[in-house]
Amino acid sequence: MKRISKKRSALLRKVKPLRDQYKAMFPWCQVPLCAAKATELHEISRGSSRGKSLGVRAALLHLCAFDHGQMDVLPVAGQLALKLLADPDGYDRIAVNLLRGRQPEAISAEEVAAWVKILQRAEEMPDVRSTTGMASSPAQRPKAKAQAQGLGNRMPADGPR
Ligand SMILES: [Zn+2]
Repeated sequence: MKRISKKRSALLRKVKPLRDQYKAMFPWCQVPLCAAKATELHEISRGSSRGKSLGVRAALLHLCAFDHGQMDVLPVAGQLALKLLADPDGYDRIAVNLLRGRQPEAISAEEVAAWVKILQRAEEMPDVRSTTGMASSPAQRPKAKAQAQGLGNRMPADGPR
C-alpha cells in the first residue's frame, strides 16, 4: 500500500477543486474516438515534476484506465498533441516544457503538430477493442486503432483485453 506524506496530502487537498472541475468538464476519455468514460487523471509531466503538475490544467488529461496505461509508451510530444486536440483552451506547450524543468522550446510546436497528424490518421482506423466492458459514450464512437497511434506497444496481439 502506498503511503502519502503529510506534505503530499496537503497538496492533494489544494489541487482537488481544479482536478474535480477538470474531470467534470471532460467526463469522457480524451484519447481521440475512445468511447470510454474517463476514470483517471493523467499528468503529462510526470516523474519529479508530477507534484507541480497536479493542479495545472495544461498538464492534465482525463483518461480511461486503458489509455492511462498507454501514456507510459506515448512520448510527451504525443501527449501534448492529445491535449491540443481534446482541450485546445487548456493547451500550453511552453508551460509543460517549463514544468518538466526543460527549455521553453524543448518540445517544439512542430513536434506536437507531427503527433497531431499521427493521431488524426489514427482516427480513421477501425476499432480493435470494441468490447472492453468499459462504458461507451452515447455516440458509440469507434475506438481508434491503438497500434496506429503508436500507443499500442502493450496491446495484446490476440485482440481486445
Ligand atoms: Zn480511453
